[in-house]
Amino acid sequence: MPLKEYRAKRDFSVSPEPAGADPAPKPRGAPRFFCVQKHLASHLHYDFRLEHDGVLLSWAVPKGPSINPADKRLAMHVEDHPLEYGTFEGVIPEGYGAGVVMLWDEGTWEPLVDDVDAALRKGDLKLRLHGVKLRGSWALVRTRGGDGRSWLLLKHRDEWAGPLDIAAFAPYSIKSGGDFTDILESAPDVWVSNRAGRAGTSPLLKVVERAVAIAEENARVAPREAPAEPDGTKAAAPRRKSAASRKRPAGKAATAGRATTRTSSPSGVSREGDATARSTRRTRAASDRGARSRGARNRPR
Ligand code: MN
Repeated sequence: MPLKEYRAKRDFSVSPEPAGADPAPKPRGAPRFFCVQKHLASHLHYDFRLEHDGVLLSWAVPKGPSINPADKRLAMHVEDHPLEYGTFEGVIPEGYGAGVVMLWDEGTWEPLVDDVDAALRKGDLKLRLHGVKLRGSWALVRTRGGDGRSWLLLKHRDEWAGPLDIAAFAPYSIKSGGDFTDILESAPDVWVSNRAGRAGTSPLLKVVERAVAIAEENARVAPREAPAEPDGTKAAAPRRKSAASRKRPAGKAATAGRATTRTSSPSGVSREGDATARSTRRTRAASDRGARSRGARNRPR
């Protein structure tokens, strides 16, 4: 039972996380889902998940994936998750993983090895990602020693690599376009009752404080764009007057301005060549997509 450990850790009468259906076989060669969920719990981390044999193989990456081949990101192998978990975004009010889960990236992946199980046993899985933020060739490599759960997530050198801090540059949800604070706002009943019920002791109180701090930092470092026009041009005005866009501090020029700032910053962005331009375009596409889906979210609260 691949999901036994996953289910044992959770109380599904309390958590909105899916219990998950048991894995069903999938035709060989069918596209495999992958996602990265940004998880603000007792510690902020990124959960990197690859569909394999009907479940999501999962690694917790404390610093998040990096598209810089110079970085080796620690990835702790954790229990398999159900496939349905891959699109989950929401608030876990208490218990295991209490906090906020954001869908940070998703797409498909393909193994660059013939036998994924053998590669996992060997501790060297080469793969290609087709995500919104993460693309190209990557590797998961198990480290020696320890309890065998420590791996490294590595980006190979290719046209999707570059010295850009992708986590800081593209911090928002690809599902809702929002930050942790928006996800918290979308489930006010959960955290308000949580706060009322356990004043001072709730783990969510700290999470809310951290979510606000993170959102402030993101608004400064990676201000969000207003939605692009359907023809792909960036109209100067007027901005759409939705409740959500009024709340957002940044206009359309923000991301472009930021890219310019980066390119001229003294911290050596001359290193950033084509890969950065690609990343910028890609990220812009990502935020546009997120921004569009925000419209659907603008129902009255
Ligand atoms: Mn997690």
